[in-house]
Amino acid sequence: MIYLDYAATTPTDQEVLKAMEPFFTKKFGNPSSLHMLGQKAKGELESTRQKIAEELACLPEEIIFTSGGTESDNLAIKGVLEAKGKPATEKKRGHMITTQIEHHAVLHTCEDMAKRGFDVTYLPVDQNGVISLKQLEEAIREDTLLISIMTANNEIGVIQPITKIGRIANKHKIPFHTDAVQAGGTFDLKVDHLKVDLLSLSAHKFYGPKGVGLLYVRKGMRIKPQQIGGSQEMNRRASTENIPGIIGLAKALEIANKRKEDENKRLIKLRDYFIQEALKHLPDTRLNGHPTERLPNNVNIAVGKIEGESLLLRLDMMGIACSSGSACASGSLDPSHVLLAIGLPHEIAQGSLRFSLGKDTTKSDIDKTLEILKKVVSDLRAMSPLV
Ligand code: PLP
Repeated sequence: MIYLDYAATTPTDQEVLKAMEPFFTKKFGNPSSLHMLGQKAKGELESTRQKIAEELACLPEEIIFTSGGTESDNLAIKGVLEAKGKPATEKKRGHMITTQIEHHAVLHTCEDMAKRGFDVTYLPVDQNGVISLKQLEEAIREDTLLISIMTANNEIGVIQPITKIGRIANKHKIPFHTDAVQAGGTFDLKVDHLKVDLLSLSAHKFYGPKGVGLLYVRKGMRIKPQQIGGSQEMNRRASTENIPGIIGLAKALEIANKRKEDENKRLIKLRDYFIQEALKHLPDTRLNGHPTERLPNNVNIAVGKIEGESLLLRLDMMGIACSSGSACASGSLDPSHVLLAIGLPHEIAQGSLRFSLGKDTTKSDIDKTLEILKKVVSDLRAMSPLV
């Protein structure tokens, strides 16, 4: 099989797995236990927090371990709005700004907050998928409590001007959260450089295990805990810490940061080759998203006069795993909200496919994929009532 769905998830790196293993069976203590085994686990937890803090150039106490990107996004948005907003008895509790192209972990959380009395502005994007800084500044109000804008989009890979957004947020003294889940392992995530106050990460996107992530929260920023129980994570996130997962997250981040410079260069070459060949040899196709301001591993193309799901299933039968829209949205026949936001008509959005490359992807994988793609597209077009 040729796996081209690394944006959905990645296989856990062998080195990561090896680092995690002792924490399942031997060093299995609960960091809240007072005995030696527990205290050893506590020591590992805190030294791992320190290591991750070095990678993000932040303080260890600014890191909250979570169960992944979704929980981190929920905690950031609900946590800030509920800590800073007016009480639930008020009709107008405050305002936040986000974009139309966020992952559902952010969008659905915002919709939920809107039901609880908060106003939400969803910034549009241009045809390349980038927000306008002018529109962002114009959307800021007296009662704006939070700006939440993703670092890189999970469907079209588009990268937002995060540092510039951070400068605007700082100038207006508004907390700035970024969902950096797709940028994890690819970007330099030094928080002061990005000028962010909150940042979400998820280990399974960069060869770490599933079900573990983190939320960076700048010191002094108040957030209301969303999970109540014990006093773990400095009273900000109750539940026994997932020590093997946290060890895996740290190891995966360390490996990714070491490899990223060379790996990004290699992936950009493969990505651009894939795009160039696909657009050249497949009639009636276009690239979705910005041609250069995009993740090194993301190829998203609209294939005219074809239904994306049929194309995806055919490719799967031929041994190629990719995605139509985002993995979380597939299964539903609605076209992707991201593709509609960049202005694609419904039928073109529905004919779009995302190929996301990763560490095991080779040029020969891309050549094989292109060859199969050409055949499948021409077969499907021959049968299509849309042609
Ligand atoms: N945010 C983005 C941009 C994502 O791509 C994803 C996962 O696809 C998430 C959040 C959710 O992360 P998790 O699967 O760790 O909950």
